Amino acid sequence: MIQDIYPFKLHNEYLPRSPRQGDYLFAFAGNQIIVRPDETFFRYEDLAAYSSYTYLFEINSTGFFLIEEPEAAHVSLNIRQMRSFQPRHLGFAAVTAWQIYQWMNDNQYCGRCSYPMIRDKKERAMRCERCGNIVYPKISPAVIVAVINDKDQILVTKFAHSTYKNYALISGFAEIGETIEETVIREVREEAGLDVEHLHYYKCQPWSFSSTLLFGFFCRVRGSDAITMDETELKAARWADRDEEIDSLDDASLTSEMIACFRKGMVHFDEL
Ligand SMILES: [Zn+2]
Repeated sequence: MIQDIYPFKLHNEYLPRSPRQGDYLFAFAGNQIIVRPDETFFRYEDLAAYSSYTYLFEINSTGFFLIEEPEAAHVSLNIRQMRSFQPRHLGFAAVTAWQIYQWMNDNQYCGRCSYPMIRDKKERAMRCERCGNIVYPKISPAVIVAVINDKDQILVTKFAHSTYKNYALISGFAEIGETIEETVIREVREEAGLDVEHLHYYKCQPWSFSSTLLFGFFCRVRGSDAITMDETELKAARWADRDEEIDSLDDASLTSEMIACFRKGMVHFDEL
């Protein structure tokens, strides 16, 4: 998955420092990341005369900083291209940085009193100096659900309104007042008209493209496996056999890993 960057390790403790040689500098414009003309990332030594740097995090001992769009020659890549970027730890750094950039960009003014916010110096937070409002990065919990029926088939779906065109699994954000298990049950019922039971937590994934923390669950159908698809959310929902080639596997996402687990025979209805 995109966050699996071993032997590299993300250090997101907020211990801001000044940039030094070898550190990476990221600039963004909307959904675009600004890179060198050869499509590699800017480093401190490329832009050492630059004015202001916002500390983001470290990977191993290399620092990552946010800067404004540089004057040096550059091109831009869509942030979605970072999903398969190599080396992977830099792609992961770029999407994680983009999440922080977006959060800062969306909180330039205080939502309580509309005064301009500042970037706090002591923690990763936006602070209003007038009313004291503090805003932390937005991380929304959501679920990815692999539903298995008694014929050992998996429920696969296609989104109705998304740039992502391949098969996916049932997914959705947690709503206010519910547990993550209740989110699983509600989303499967809403999107496919199915009841599920025997929820098994698999893994989670930080998914910065949507400021989400995804919780992956396997579960089995309870009762009928006749699908009633929510056509406002999905354009396809069907059962797939274990030996079917499913065109979503790119090893970046939790969805892909869960489908791969199913296809390798690691998940069975009777064992859920
Ligand atoms: Zn305020």
